[in-house]
Amino acid sequence: MVSLKYETDSPIECISKITGDNLCESISNLKTLIYADIVIIILLIIFRNKISKMGYKKVCLECKISFNRDIDLGSELSYPCPECGKPMTLLSHRFRAPKKNDKKAWETVKFLIENGFPFQHIYKIEDGKLTNEYAEFPNSMKEAEEFIEIYKDQAYKK
Ligand SMILES: [Zn+2]
Repeated sequence: MVSLKYETDSPIECISKITGDNLCESISNLKTLIYADIVIIILLIIFRNKISKMGYKKVCLECKISFNRDIDLGSELSYPCPECGKPMTLLSHRFRAPKKNDKKAWETVKFLIENGFPFQHIYKIEDGKLTNEYAEFPNSMKEAEEFIEIYKDQAYKK
């Protein structure tokens, strides 16, 4: 951008003699953009922890334990289980771990994951139509078998 000093007769003059543009307007637009960027960056910093915590849960299907994921955005690829050392599975924050001794519930969890349902948002189907509501994840194997059949179109493909 050419300086105001040379494009106009005086510093309070806004219209460029060269291009005919309103230079003051361009400058104030630019300032607004910069302020907006600063606000967005501050908000991101404030909510960073919340966003990443909401993201995932680390789960070990063998040891039947689950943790919220630590705050280290994408810097790591595998999380060794503190009990068995095997890589933990990342599940959606929506996952609620069953009780440790509830073997059947954990089998159901494993079955759902293996079939492409790591507790992501699944849209409910009513009368053969997709709705805006989220479907509840099943707790028993029998329900899970029906679930993966009904929602197979929404499964994550391997
Ligand atoms: Zn483990």
